Order: sequence, then C-alpha cells, then structure tokens
Amino acid sequence: MVQTTDSVTRLVDEFAKLPGIGRKSAERLAYHILRVHESEALALADSIRTVKQNVRYCSQCFNLAESELCSICQDPRRDQTLLCIVEQPRDLMALEQSGMFPGLYHVLLGRIAPLEGVGPDQLTIDALVDRVRTGKFREIIMATNPTTEGDGTALHISNLLSEMPVSLTRLARGITTGSILEFTNKEILADALSGRQKL
Ligand SMILES: [Zn+2]
Repeated sequence: MVQTTDSVTRLVDEFAKLPGIGRKSAERLAYHILRVHESEALALADSIRTVKQNVRYCSQCFNLAESELCSICQDPRRDQTLLCIVEQPRDLMALEQSGMFPGLYHVLLGRIAPLEGVGPDQLTIDALVDRVRTGKFREIIMATNPTTEGDGTALHISNLLSEMPVSLTRLARGITTGSILEFTNKEILADALSGRQKL
C-alpha cells in the first residue's frame, strides 16, 4: 500500500491480526471493504459486535449459547443419559453434523497441555465431575481428539470418573491418529461413534 489514510491502515492492522491472514491479504480485505456498499460493510461490523455481545458459554455444557442454556441442553428430545465429552464447541458441531449422537455434551474448552501450561484447572473438568455425580448418565463417551494431549486428557478424566457407576467409552479409532475432529468427515465420525469402545 503506497498512499493510504490512518483509518485504512487501522483496518489493515486489524485484519492482519486474524489467524492465517498475512499483510497482503489484510490489504486485499481492506480494499474490498472500501469497495463494497456501506450496508454490506456495516453488516460485517455488526455481526462481529453481536457475536461478542450475545454469545456466551452454556452454563451446563459450555457449548456456545445465546441464553443460559444452549439449544442442545434445552432440547427435551435429547437422550439425557448419554454424555459426550469434547474439547471445543467446534468438535461438538462436527459430531452434530454426523447426526449420529442423540445425547448431551460437555465441552472442556481445551485439553490438558502441560507444555503450553494448560492444566486440568483451566478446563471445565470440575463442572463435568459435578454433572456426572448427579448419577443421571448411563454412558460417557470420550470424544477428545486422537492426539497425545487429547488422549492424556481423556485418561485424566476417566481416572476421575472411574469410581462412579457409569460406563466409559472412547470413540473408535476410525479417525486417523492426530487428525482433528472438526476436520474429519461426518461418515468417519459416525463410524467412530457407533464403533466406540469401552475404556
Ligand atoms: Zn448446553
């Protein structure tokens, strides 16, 4: 960018902070915004504002929600005795898209990663243990990612829950080790769910 204004520079700086967006792409996006109709550009600004103001975590399962409970926790048709543990809301989304899981979820909001300084306390594990302690669940499915950290997290949780009268299972290894749930296609996810194994 040769000649520009302060506001344009600011917009480029903001775009450049986004993941996967380099300086050149940020400049392209900024020029795109300058070119489009004002209403289109403001719709983008407004959707960012709305998401930041309205979206929070479900108080029960830590999925994304726009009220106290997420749409899944509010749905009486979901099987209240099945609980699937995932790392992130986007993993939950991937499983939902497989259309194979009728139960409820618990989102950890991360995984135990000692090298990055993420310990069990920074996840929603305490809330999970409290939920399971109610005795409502007959089966708990570990659907953390098949990575070293995802496996370690599943192991930590299964140790915590081992004394409780509930069956613990893990997604079958249809998913290639190291691949991430959100990028796995829904047929493979559906197979992994139906072939889940006892821990
Ligand atoms: Zn929820």
